Amino acid sequence: MRAFNFSAGPATLPTEVLEQVQAELLDWRGLGLSVMELSHRGPEFMEILARSEADLRDLLNIPSEYRVIFCQEGASAHWDMIPLNLLQGKKRADYIETGYWSYRAIEEGRRYCQVNIAASNRSDQFCAIPLQQDWRLDPDAAYVHYCSNETIDGLEFHWIPDTGSVPLVVDMSSHFLSRPVPIQRFGMVYAGAQKNIGPAGLSLVIIRDDLLHPAAPGTPFLMDYHAQVLANSMLNTPPTFTIWVAGLVFQWIKRQGGLEAMEARNREKSEALYAALDRSDFYRTTVKRIDRSHMNIPFHLRDPALDEKFLKEAEQHHLLQLRGHRVVGGMRASIYNAMPMAGVQALIAFMNDFEQRHG
Ligand SMILES: *Cc1c(COP(=O)(O)O)cnc(C)c1O
Repeated sequence: MRAFNFSAGPATLPTEVLEQVQAELLDWRGLGLSVMELSHRGPEFMEILARSEADLRDLLNIPSEYRVIFCQEGASAHWDMIPLNLLQGKKRADYIETGYWSYRAIEEGRRYCQVNIAASNRSDQFCAIPLQQDWRLDPDAAYVHYCSNETIDGLEFHWIPDTGSVPLVVDMSSHFLSRPVPIQRFGMVYAGAQKNIGPAGLSLVIIRDDLLHPAAPGTPFLMDYHAQVLANSMLNTPPTFTIWVAGLVFQWIKRQGGLEAMEARNREKSEALYAALDRSDFYRTTVKRIDRSHMNIPFHLRDPALDEKFLKEAEQHHLLQLRGHRVVGGMRASIYNAMPMAGVQALIAFMNDFEQRHG
């Protein structure tokens, strides 16, 4: 049987999509071979790639002046690729610090430029998103980087920063495709696949045409966005299987009713779980209410001595991978698009029962 998988990533995939992969694995469209075995330059894979991009464009309503790149690197590689490609001779960039992943981007950005931390919630223990009115943006920055959903800390931007003419660059890894997004507000959006897109091994970039120039001298050729766009994401062999499965996920989202429908479902799921957490003082959350993530919900048991018991019993109830990230401890329920409401309800029922027995 399939358990409910609350992992932050690699994360749960829609069962329907996995069944489709299983059905088509050995003999794709009667060709007598698997997608994994197709030439990436042949017409069949070219069609898969084109369809994946077209469905993504449809889902997000991506304007025509934006390019989509299918990258082999994980989201982390973009912390280097962004300065290498977007500084374009400038010396400074703005970064917003809101938690673990935005901080990792800052550390990496410092290898290439003068990083201005325009806002930080570090002194707030990463519990609330700094208000834009308190940001100290540099009008000469090459770009402003932020992370719109902090996977580990459980914070989500429910608004989009206004950076004037300075391009806004966003790491959307852990809530990409969880709701509609006005792409035209961004210079560049990137996201790793293994949270809400598909299997690990791929990241997506959506970048505005006017930001595409040859990368800084010395940049490895695969890390040059401009070159990747010219080569249609095929400077070398792309991760063909992962791109295929990601495309099946895009089609699955369309069948669910698109991003508006995803947003409604995600809201319903997270509200149910937060309501359960708020009802109890056996469990606690620390993120400020208005900044709570709909995707990643970290929480702690009042008595951490019960953590291991909680995890073990949850597993017996087929509720898997609830352990919080090692830097924050406690628990974390990641409830991405592919997590059904039934999974959230099963978790809430288990939590209530566990509290009754140990509270
Ligand atoms: C998971 C994650 C990353 C790192 O992704 P990799 O694919 O392991 O490089 C970066 N940013 C965010 C927001 C993430 O959730």
